[in-house]
Amino acid sequence: MIAALDKAVCGERVRAPATYTMRALTLVADRKIELLDVAAPSAPAAGEVQIRIKAIGLNHIDVWGWRGMAFAKRKLPLIVGVEAAGEVAATGNGVTSLKPGDGVVAYGALTCATCKACREGRDNLCENVAGIMGFHLDGFARDLVNMPARLVVPIPAGVNFRDAACAPVAFATVQHMLFDNAKLEPGETILVQAGGSGIGTAAIKMAKAIGCTVITTVGDDAKAEKAKALGADHVINYRTDRFEGVVRKLTGKKGVDVAFEHVGPDTFNGSLLCLKRGGRLVTCGSTSGQSTTVNLFQLYLQQYRIFGSFGASMRNIRESLAKMASGLLPVIDTEVALADFERGLARLESRQVFGKIIVNF
Ligand SMILES: [Zn+2]
Repeated sequence: MIAALDKAVCGERVRAPATYTMRALTLVADRKIELLDVAAPSAPAAGEVQIRIKAIGLNHIDVWGWRGMAFAKRKLPLIVGVEAAGEVAATGNGVTSLKPGDGVVAYGALTCATCKACREGRDNLCENVAGIMGFHLDGFARDLVNMPARLVVPIPAGVNFRDAACAPVAFATVQHMLFDNAKLEPGETILVQAGGSGIGTAAIKMAKAIGCTVITTVGDDAKAEKAKALGADHVINYRTDRFEGVVRKLTGKKGVDVAFEHVGPDTFNGSLLCLKRGGRLVTCGSTSGQSTTVNLFQLYLQQYRIFGSFGASMRNIRESLAKMASGLLPVIDTEVALADFERGLARLESRQVFGKIIVNF
Protein backbone atom coordinates (compact mmCIF):
# COMPACT_ATOMS: atom_id res chain seq x y z
CA MET A 1 0.00 0.00 0.00
CA ILE A 2 2.84 2.36 0.84
CA ALA A 3 4.29 2.02 -2.67
CA ALA A 4 0.94 2.86 -4.23
CA LEU A 5 0.52 5.74 -1.84
CA ASP A 6 4.00 7.10 -2.47
CA LYS A 7 3.23 7.21 -6.15
CA ALA A 8 0.05 9.13 -5.48
CA VAL A 9 1.61 11.40 -2.88
CA CYS A 10 4.66 12.36 -4.88
CA GLY A 11 3.05 12.58 -8.30
CA GLU A 12 5.11 13.81 -11.17
CA ARG A 13 6.20 17.39 -11.21
CA VAL A 14 5.90 17.90 -14.91
CA ARG A 15 3.34 20.13 -16.48
CA ALA A 16 0.38 17.95 -17.36
CA PRO A 17 -2.76 18.88 -19.35
CA ALA A 18 -4.79 21.51 -17.48
CA THR A 19 -7.55 19.15 -16.42
CA TYR A 20 -5.09 16.92 -14.56
CA THR A 21 -3.17 19.51 -12.63
CA MET A 22 -3.70 20.97 -9.20
CA ARG A 23 -2.14 23.69 -7.08
CA ALA A 24 0.59 22.72 -4.65
CA LEU A 25 2.66 24.92 -2.36
CA THR A 26 6.12 23.58 -2.96
CA LEU A 27 9.35 24.21 -1.08
CA VAL A 28 11.91 24.54 -3.87
CA ALA A 29 14.89 25.79 -1.80
CA ASP A 30 15.49 26.97 1.76
CA ARG A 31 13.04 29.82 2.49
CA LYS A 32 11.54 29.59 -0.97
CA ILE A 33 8.01 28.27 -1.45
CA GLU A 34 6.29 28.48 -4.84
CA LEU A 35 2.69 27.81 -5.82
CA LEU A 36 3.11 25.30 -8.63
CA ASP A 37 0.85 23.33 -10.92
CA VAL A 38 1.57 19.66 -10.38
CA ALA A 39 -0.07 16.47 -11.55
CA ALA A 40 -3.22 15.65 -9.61
CA PRO A 41 -3.31 12.25 -7.91
CA SER A 42 -5.02 9.39 -9.70
CA ALA A 43 -8.27 7.96 -8.35
CA PRO A 44 -7.81 6.58 -4.83
CA ALA A 45 -6.65 2.97 -4.69
CA ALA A 46 -8.33 0.30 -2.59
CA GLY A 47 -8.35 1.36 1.05
CA GLU A 48 -7.57 4.98 0.20
CA VAL A 49 -9.49 8.22 0.47
CA GLN A 50 -8.98 11.25 -1.77
CA ILE A 51 -9.23 14.47 0.24
CA ARG A 52 -9.89 17.95 -1.14
CA ILE A 53 -7.90 20.22 1.18
CA LYS A 54 -9.72 23.26 2.61
CA ALA A 55 -7.47 24.64 5.37
CA ILE A 56 -3.89 24.21 6.60
CA GLY A 57 -2.69 24.91 10.14
CA LEU A 58 0.84 26.29 10.48
CA ASN A 59 3.18 24.93 13.17
CA HIS A 60 6.78 25.45 14.17
CA ILE A 61 7.73 22.30 12.28
CA ASP A 62 6.73 24.19 9.11
CA VAL A 63 9.17 26.97 10.08
CA TRP A 64 11.94 24.43 10.64
CA GLY A 65 11.26 22.83 7.28
CA TRP A 66 11.14 26.20 5.52
CA ARG A 67 14.40 27.41 7.05
CA GLY A 68 16.07 24.14 6.12
CA MET A 69 17.39 21.50 8.49
CA ALA A 70 20.70 19.96 7.64
CA PHE A 71 20.00 16.67 9.40
CA ALA A 72 16.50 16.08 7.99
CA LYS A 73 16.39 13.24 5.48
CA ARG A 74 14.39 14.65 2.62
CA LYS A 75 14.56 15.87 -0.93
CA LEU A 76 13.39 19.09 -2.52
CA PRO A 77 11.09 20.03 -4.15
CA LEU A 78 8.66 19.12 -1.40
CA ILE A 79 4.97 19.96 -1.00
CA VAL A 80 4.58 21.65 2.39
CA GLY A 81 1.74 21.53 4.95
CA VAL A 82 1.86 19.29 8.02
CA GLU A 83 -1.72 19.57 9.32
CA ALA A 84 -4.91 20.13 7.38
CA ALA A 85 -8.64 19.66 7.11
CA GLY A 86 -10.67 18.96 4.01
CA GLU A 87 -13.51 16.96 2.58
CA VAL A 88 -13.61 13.52 1.04
CA ALA A 89 -13.58 13.86 -2.76
CA ALA A 90 -13.60 10.14 -3.60
CA THR A 91 -13.11 6.79 -1.92
CA GLY A 92 -11.33 3.67 -3.11
CA ASN A 93 -12.64 0.12 -2.99
CA GLY A 94 -13.35 -1.26 0.44
CA VAL A 95 -13.73 2.12 2.17
CA THR A 96 -17.09 2.07 3.92
CA SER A 97 -16.54 4.40 6.88
CA LEU A 98 -16.28 7.58 4.79
CA LYS A 99 -18.14 8.99 1.81
CA PRO A 100 -17.66 11.93 -0.58
CA GLY A 101 -18.51 15.22 1.12
CA ASP A 102 -17.52 14.10 4.63
CA GLY A 103 -15.30 16.58 6.49
CA VAL A 104 -12.03 14.94 7.55
CA VAL A 105 -8.55 15.49 8.93
CA ALA A 106 -5.62 13.14 8.36
CA TYR A 107 -2.80 11.81 10.49
CA GLY A 108 0.38 13.57 9.36
CA ALA A 109 2.83 10.67 9.38
CA LEU A 110 2.76 7.54 7.26
CA THR A 111 2.76 4.83 9.92
CA CYS A 112 2.99 1.12 9.15
CA ALA A 113 -0.17 -0.11 10.94
CA THR A 114 1.50 -3.43 11.77
CA CYS A 115 4.31 -2.87 14.31
CA LYS A 116 3.72 -3.32 18.06
CA ALA A 117 3.41 0.43 18.70
CA CYS A 118 0.87 0.86 15.88
CA ARG A 119 -1.15 -2.16 17.03
CA GLU A 120 -1.24 -0.70 20.53
CA GLY A 121 -2.44 2.71 19.30
CA ARG A 122 0.86 4.44 20.01
CA ASP A 123 1.03 5.70 16.45
CA ASN A 124 3.72 8.32 17.10
CA LEU A 125 6.09 5.53 18.20
CA CYS A 126 5.68 3.52 14.97
CA GLU A 127 8.87 1.57 14.33
CA ASN A 128 8.60 1.78 10.54
CA VAL A 129 7.24 5.26 9.96
CA ALA A 130 7.89 6.44 6.41
CA GLY A 131 8.12 10.09 7.49
CA ILE A 132 6.17 13.20 8.39
CA MET A 133 4.09 14.64 5.58
CA GLY A 134 5.04 18.22 4.77
CA PHE A 135 8.46 17.72 6.32
CA HIS A 136 10.06 14.48 5.04
CA LEU A 137 7.40 13.61 2.47
CA ASP A 138 5.04 15.66 0.32
CA GLY A 139 2.47 17.31 2.60
CA PHE A 140 -1.08 18.62 2.56
CA ALA A 141 -0.77 22.11 0.99
CA ARG A 142 -2.33 21.07 -2.32
CA ASP A 143 -5.81 20.69 -3.73
CA LEU A 144 -5.99 16.89 -3.57
CA VAL A 145 -4.21 14.18 -1.62
CA ASN A 146 -4.74 10.42 -1.41
CA MET A 147 -4.43 8.93 2.07
CA PRO A 148 -4.94 5.49 3.54
CA ALA A 149 -8.46 5.53 5.05
CA ARG A 150 -7.03 4.17 8.32
CA LEU A 151 -5.20 7.51 8.80
CA VAL A 152 -8.29 9.66 8.19
CA VAL A 153 -10.55 10.93 11.00
CA PRO A 154 -14.04 12.40 10.39
CA ILE A 155 -14.76 15.94 11.64
CA PRO A 156 -17.72 15.97 14.04
CA ALA A 157 -20.83 18.04 13.23
CA GLY A 158 -20.51 21.70 14.13
CA VAL A 159 -16.71 21.95 13.73
CA ASN A 160 -15.57 24.00 10.73
CA PHE A 161 -12.56 23.31 8.51
CA ARG A 162 -10.55 26.19 9.98
CA ASP A 163 -10.79 24.87 13.52
CA ALA A 164 -10.50 21.20 12.53
CA ALA A 165 -7.23 22.01 10.73
CA CYS A 166 -5.72 22.60 14.19
CA ALA A 167 -6.57 19.10 15.43
CA PRO A 168 -3.99 16.70 13.92
CA VAL A 169 -0.85 18.50 15.15
CA ALA A 170 -1.51 21.44 17.48
CA PHE A 171 -4.43 20.16 19.54
CA ALA A 172 -3.47 16.47 19.43
CA THR A 173 0.12 17.27 20.48
CA VAL A 174 -1.15 19.18 23.52
CA GLN A 175 -3.70 16.47 24.34
CA HIS A 176 -0.89 13.87 24.23
CA MET A 177 1.48 16.00 26.32
CA LEU A 178 -0.96 16.94 29.06
CA PHE A 179 -2.99 13.78 29.45
CA ASP A 180 -0.96 10.80 28.13
CA ASN A 181 2.48 11.98 29.29
CA ALA A 182 2.15 14.48 32.16
CA LYS A 183 -1.14 12.92 33.31
CA LEU A 184 -2.51 16.31 34.33
CA GLU A 185 -5.29 15.99 36.90
CA PRO A 186 -8.17 18.33 37.78
CA GLY A 187 -7.17 20.75 40.51
CA GLU A 188 -3.45 20.69 39.75
CA THR A 189 -1.36 23.76 38.99
CA ILE A 190 0.38 24.03 35.62
CA LEU A 191 2.93 26.44 34.18
CA VAL A 192 2.37 26.93 30.44
CA GLN A 193 5.40 28.49 28.75
CA ALA A 194 4.76 30.82 25.80
CA GLY A 195 1.03 30.96 26.39
CA GLY A 196 0.42 33.00 23.24
CA SER A 197 1.63 30.30 20.86
CA GLY A 198 -0.68 27.92 19.00
CA ILE A 199 0.00 25.06 21.41
CA GLY A 200 0.27 27.39 24.43
CA THR A 201 -3.23 28.74 23.87
CA ALA A 202 -4.55 25.18 23.47
CA ALA A 203 -2.78 24.08 26.66
CA ILE A 204 -4.29 26.97 28.66
CA LYS A 205 -7.80 26.14 27.45
CA MET A 206 -7.47 22.36 27.97
CA ALA A 207 -6.04 22.76 31.48
CA LYS A 208 -8.70 25.30 32.49
CA ALA A 209 -11.42 23.00 31.08
CA ILE A 210 -10.59 20.36 33.71
CA GLY A 211 -10.30 22.85 36.56
CA CYS A 212 -6.55 23.40 36.83
CA THR A 213 -4.88 26.57 38.02
CA VAL A 214 -2.93 27.96 35.06
CA ILE A 215 0.14 30.17 35.25
CA THR A 216 1.46 31.25 31.87
CA THR A 217 4.27 33.33 30.43
CA VAL A 218 4.01 35.77 27.52
CA GLY A 219 6.36 38.28 25.89
CA ASP A 220 4.28 41.48 25.98
CA ASP A 221 1.40 43.13 27.82
CA ALA A 222 -1.08 42.86 24.95
CA LYS A 223 -0.61 39.08 24.98
CA ALA A 224 -0.99 39.09 28.76
CA GLU A 225 -4.50 40.54 28.42
CA LYS A 226 -5.41 37.96 25.80
CA ALA A 227 -4.07 35.09 27.92
CA LYS A 228 -6.16 36.29 30.86
CA ALA A 229 -9.21 36.43 28.61
CA LEU A 230 -8.58 32.75 27.76
CA GLY A 231 -8.85 31.89 31.44
CA ALA A 232 -5.23 31.88 32.62
CA ASP A 233 -5.21 32.59 36.36
CA HIS A 234 -1.80 34.29 36.41
CA VAL A 235 0.11 35.75 33.48
CA ILE A 236 3.80 36.64 33.69
CA ASN A 237 5.53 38.91 31.19
CA TYR A 238 8.87 37.11 31.01
CA ARG A 239 10.56 40.18 29.54
CA THR A 240 9.85 42.30 32.62
CA ASP A 241 9.71 39.66 35.40
CA ARG A 242 11.77 36.58 36.26
CA PHE A 243 9.10 33.91 35.90
CA GLU A 244 10.83 31.48 38.32
CA GLY A 245 10.52 33.97 41.16
CA VAL A 246 6.93 34.89 40.36
CA VAL A 247 5.85 31.22 40.17
CA ARG A 248 7.52 30.57 43.52
CA LYS A 249 5.59 33.46 45.06
CA LEU A 250 2.29 32.48 43.45
CA THR A 251 2.52 28.89 44.71
CA GLY A 252 3.62 29.79 48.24
CA LYS A 253 7.14 28.48 47.50
CA LYS A 254 5.72 25.02 46.68
CA GLY A 255 6.01 25.02 42.90
CA VAL A 256 3.70 23.72 40.18
CA ASP A 257 2.65 20.13 39.49
CA VAL A 258 3.31 20.31 35.75
CA ALA A 259 5.43 22.50 33.47
CA PHE A 260 4.47 22.66 29.79
CA GLU A 261 7.65 23.38 27.81
CA HIS A 262 8.43 24.01 24.16
CA VAL A 263 10.67 27.07 24.31
CA GLY A 264 13.92 25.24 25.08
CA PRO A 265 17.22 26.52 26.53
CA ASP A 266 15.83 30.01 27.31
CA THR A 267 13.32 28.60 29.80
CA PHE A 268 13.98 24.87 30.35
CA ASN A 269 15.94 25.10 33.60
CA GLY A 270 13.67 27.83 34.89
CA SER A 271 10.71 25.54 34.21
CA LEU A 272 12.40 22.74 36.17
CA LEU A 273 12.98 25.16 39.07
CA CYS A 274 9.25 25.96 39.06
CA LEU A 275 8.27 22.33 39.72
CA LYS A 276 7.31 21.05 43.13
CA ARG A 277 9.09 17.92 44.34
CA GLY A 278 7.99 15.02 42.13
CA GLY A 279 6.65 17.45 39.52
CA ARG A 280 6.43 16.66 35.82
CA LEU A 281 7.90 18.59 32.93
CA VAL A 282 6.70 17.76 29.44
CA THR A 283 8.32 19.24 26.34
CA CYS A 284 7.53 19.05 22.64
CA GLY A 285 9.81 21.70 21.24
CA SER A 286 12.91 23.79 21.51
CA THR A 287 12.45 26.97 19.52
CA SER A 288 15.23 28.86 21.34
CA GLY A 289 17.97 26.32 20.58
CA GLN A 290 18.95 22.68 20.73
CA SER A 291 20.91 22.03 23.93
CA THR A 292 20.95 22.92 27.57
CA THR A 293 22.58 21.58 30.73
CA VAL A 294 20.60 20.02 33.54
CA ASN A 295 21.57 19.92 37.20
CA LEU A 296 21.45 16.19 37.93
CA PHE A 297 21.50 16.67 41.72
CA GLN A 298 18.36 18.75 41.37
CA LEU A 299 16.81 16.21 38.97
CA TYR A 300 17.00 13.22 41.29
CA LEU A 301 16.82 14.95 44.66
CA GLN A 302 13.62 16.71 43.59
CA GLN A 303 12.43 13.52 41.83
CA TYR A 304 11.41 15.38 38.69
CA ARG A 305 9.91 13.49 35.81
CA ILE A 306 10.74 14.80 32.34
CA PHE A 307 8.77 13.71 29.29
CA GLY A 308 9.82 14.24 25.69
CA SER A 309 6.71 14.34 23.54
CA PHE A 310 6.44 14.42 19.78
CA GLY A 311 3.24 14.18 17.79
CA ALA A 312 0.22 12.27 18.93
CA SER A 313 -1.87 9.18 18.35
CA MET A 314 -4.96 8.79 16.17
CA ARG A 315 -6.91 8.63 19.43
CA ASN A 316 -5.53 12.04 20.43
CA ILE A 317 -6.85 13.50 17.16
CA ARG A 318 -10.32 12.08 17.83
CA GLU A 319 -10.18 13.43 21.41
CA SER A 320 -9.14 16.86 20.10
CA LEU A 321 -12.01 17.00 17.61
CA ALA A 322 -14.44 15.90 20.34
CA LYS A 323 -13.22 18.78 22.52
CA MET A 324 -13.79 21.19 19.64
CA ALA A 325 -17.31 19.79 19.13
CA SER A 326 -18.04 20.49 22.79
CA GLY A 327 -16.95 24.12 22.40
CA LEU A 328 -13.23 24.08 23.27
CA LEU A 329 -12.08 25.82 20.09
CA PRO A 330 -8.60 26.80 18.94
CA VAL A 331 -7.50 30.43 19.19
CA ILE A 332 -6.94 31.74 15.68
CA ASP A 333 -4.36 34.49 15.23
CA THR A 334 -4.80 35.08 11.51
CA GLU A 335 -6.17 33.46 8.38
CA VAL A 336 -4.16 33.96 5.22
CA ALA A 337 -4.64 33.06 1.58
CA LEU A 338 -2.63 30.36 -0.15
CA ALA A 339 -0.30 32.91 -1.77
CA ASP A 340 0.58 34.30 1.69
CA PHE A 341 1.85 31.01 3.13
CA GLU A 342 5.38 32.35 3.51
CA ARG A 343 4.12 35.54 5.15
CA GLY A 344 2.34 33.30 7.65
CA LEU A 345 5.56 31.38 8.35
CA ALA A 346 7.49 34.63 8.84
CA ARG A 347 4.84 35.81 11.30
CA LEU A 348 5.10 32.51 13.18
CA GLU A 349 8.89 32.71 13.20
CA SER A 350 8.80 36.27 14.61
CA ARG A 351 6.71 35.01 17.57
CA GLN A 352 4.25 37.87 17.15
CA VAL A 353 1.33 35.46 17.06
CA PHE A 354 -1.41 34.83 19.56
CA GLY A 355 -2.90 31.49 18.57
CA LYS A 356 -2.85 29.66 15.26
CA ILE A 357 -2.22 30.82 11.72
CA ILE A 358 -4.51 29.19 9.17
CA VAL A 359 -3.96 29.07 5.41
CA ASN A 360 -7.20 28.80 3.44
CA PHE A 361 -7.48 26.99 0.15
ZN1 LIG B 1 4.08 1.00 12.96
